[in-house]
Amino acid sequence: MALTETVPAAPAHEGILRRQSLRESAARTYARSLPIVPVRARGLTIEGADGRRYLDCLSGAGTLALGHNHPVVLEAIRSVLDSGAPLHVLDLATPVKDAFTTELFATLPGELAEKARIQFCGPAGTDAVEAAFKLVRTATGRDGLMAFSGAYHGMTSEALAASGGAQHTSVVRLPYPYDYRCPFGTGGERGAELAARWTQNLLDDHKSGVPSPAGMILEPVQGEGGVIPAPDGWLRRMREITAARQIPLIVDEVQTGVGRTGAFWAVDHSGIVPDVIVLSKAIGGSLPLAVIVYREELDAWQPGAHAGTFRGNQLAMAAGAATLAYVRANGLDRRAGELGARMLARLTSLAAAHDCIGDVRGRGLMLGVELVDRDADADATGGRPAAPELAAAVRDACLDRGLIVELGGRHSAVVRLLPPLTITDEQADAILDRLADAITAAVRTTPGPMGSSPTTLRGTTP
Ligand code: PMP
Repeated sequence: MALTETVPAAPAHEGILRRQSLRESAARTYARSLPIVPVRARGLTIEGADGRRYLDCLSGAGTLALGHNHPVVLEAIRSVLDSGAPLHVLDLATPVKDAFTTELFATLPGELAEKARIQFCGPAGTDAVEAAFKLVRTATGRDGLMAFSGAYHGMTSEALAASGGAQHTSVVRLPYPYDYRCPFGTGGERGAELAARWTQNLLDDHKSGVPSPAGMILEPVQGEGGVIPAPDGWLRRMREITAARQIPLIVDEVQTGVGRTGAFWAVDHSGIVPDVIVLSKAIGGSLPLAVIVYREELDAWQPGAHAGTFRGNQLAMAAGAATLAYVRANGLDRRAGELGARMLARLTSLAAAHDCIGDVRGRGLMLGVELVDRDADADATGGRPAAPELAAAVRDACLDRGLIVELGGRHSAVVRLLPPLTITDEQADAILDRLADAITAAVRTTPGPMGSSPTTLRGTTP
């Protein structure tokens, strides 16, 4: 009788991960740094197939305003399913869509909502960005676009062309106020004012080589770009500059919307009213939904000018309406502002204890920790060189401690926190405890860029 060796079976989740890496494209993103097979989730917590539990501060890249599987979202989805309503209706009118639009308009800046049009787009943020560009081109008869360094607007061709990672583009790039790495070397209000003047000058100098554009697109807080909040004064300047020159201002609130920054929409902080607002992520209550809302004067489209099959997701509209209503009724935007300020204060103490933290910043529950080379001096922008390897080590150390975070920024050296707006004070503390511990562990094990010894601690971590 042949002897058979019993090899212990690999856990099921390992097989799933292995098959994913064999079958899915080389462009896989989050799946590379987060080798998790989620099987259950509630609120802030995700449970993997291996039984491990994680605090999820990625929140579907900022989608889950109410966390995973919030009861009001589940109830809204169930009630559509139980009603027998059709799930696919192209762009036909339905009671579910009507209720969603009413709820959305109730939250938008009054001046926009009073005379607004809405276009339901293909289901992703990038589809809505494309629609916005097409809209302003049709309305103005002009072609060019203005966008900002470090921006992220999506992965379809025009959205990518307006993003910081563009390779070939005719989009005019403008400086975004980035305090820590100010292109003018001054930072603060002065840096933001110089950035505004640069923009103004490009538009007014007839020999600048920049013809009057069809529109300008900006994020009120650059998310993927490294959690960089634009100063309110600068946003008002952009509004004045564009309004005075009849250039439609497109504000991309795909990531900042629905309370995330401490106001229902991030534009509410500065009080500016955009001509076009681009919305996705949280407005679908965790399901795919994307729209643009714009001043009705811009509605120069012909019937069918912007079509698409998947623009009528009834479950997403119901989940989205429930999310918008819940955030509004429970003041979760204010809560995000208050809790975010407290978390930022704790991150500031953490930065004082670690010389590898160059900057901490954010608005509401959109927070970032920029990791830098502690040995290097500041460059002409005022910032020290980014430390992407250390940032990756921090992200991995967070995962080891049951905390999911992702990286952003020019060099993927900004650790980003995007927790649900529903987290408790205790959960916020648990997130920051794990992050502080992960940074301490990562700096002990990661040599500096020049092979220097690990970072020194300047005090006790908070
Ligand atoms: N705009 C902004 C500001 C975003 O953060 C994103 C996604 N991170 C997009 C647009 C694109 O959205 P999507 O990935 O759904 O296409």
